[in-house]
Amino acid sequence: TPIIDAKNISKAYGSGTGRFEALRDVSLRVHRGESVAIVGKSGSGKSTLMHIIALLDVPDAGTVSFAGQDALSLPAKQMSEVRNKEFGFVFQQFFLTPGASVLDNVTLPLKIAGVPGKLRKERGLAVLEQFELADKASNKATDLSGGQKQRVVISRALVNEPSVIFADEPTGNLDSATGRVVEDTLFDLNRDLGITLVIVTHDEDLAARCDRQVFVHDGVIVSESRKTEDAA
Ligand code: ADP
Ligand code: ADP
Repeated sequence: TPIIDAKNISKAYGSGTGRFEALRDVSLRVHRGESVAIVGKSGSGKSTLMHIIALLDVPDAGTVSFAGQDALSLPAKQMSEVRNKEFGFVFQQFFLTPGASVLDNVTLPLKIAGVPGKLRKERGLAVLEQFELADKASNKATDLSGGQKQRVVISRALVNEPSVIFADEPTGNLDSATGRVVEDTLFDLNRDLGITLVIVTHDEDLAARCDRQVFVHDGVIVSESRKTEDAA
C-alpha cells in the first residue's frame, strides 16, 4: 500500500469570473520511504497539491488515502491527529512563534498531542541535542540565524517521530551553503530513519537528489522521472 494515495484531485480558488482551477484531476502515489520532489514553475499548483496530500487543505474533488485509509472522510479531530502525529512540516517561511523559546517551538506538536510537560521537555531537548541546538533551548526563536531557525523547524517536524516530512521550498530563505546543510539533514532522515520525504521545490539540484520527480504545469502532472544512479 502506498503511504499516500491521492486520486483525481481537483481544486479551484475563487468563484465566478475570479474562479481559478489550481489543480485538475491530479493523481499521485507516494510510497513509504521514498523521496519525491514536486517540481514546476511558480503558480503551477505545487503547494496546493502538497497542502492537499498533507491534509492541510481539502480538494473540491478526489480522494486522499493515508496508509490505506480514506483520510478525507475522517472526522476533523482524527484528521488533525494524523497530520500532527504522522506528518512533519518544513516551510520556507519557518512558521516559528517569534516570542516563544526554541524549546516551546519544538515541542508544540507534542503539546497538541497532549504529551505532559516533563516528557515534552525531555523529548524536545533530545531532538535539539541531535541538531546541536540544545544550548539554544531557552533562546527566543527570533534570536537565531536562518540556518539555526530551519534546524529548529526540522526539530519540530521530527519531535513526534513522523512517517512523512513535507517540505515546501525548505531552502528558499537560506544561503546556498546553509541550504545544503538543511538538505543533507532531510536526506539523512530519509536514509537513516526511513522517513518519507515530499519536497516542493523549483531548485533542480534539490529535485535531482530525490528518488522521483513529479512535474506540475498549469494544474496537472505532465511528467515524472526517476533519479539516475550517477545523480545520487
Ligand atoms: P506553486 O506552489 O506552484 O507556486 P500554488 O499551488 O501556490 O502554486 O498556486 C497555484 C495557483 O493557485 C496560483 O495561480 C495561485 O495564485 C493560486 N492560489 C493559490 N492559493 C490561493 C488562494 N488561497 N486563493 C486564491 N488563489 C490561490
Ligand atoms: P506557500 O507560500 O508555500 O503557498 P503558505 O503561505 O500558503 O505557503 O502557507 C502554508 C500553509 O500551511 C498556511 O496555511 C499555514 O497556516 C500552514 N502551516 C504552516 N506551517 C504549518 C505547520 N507546522 N503545521 C500545520 N500547518 C502549517
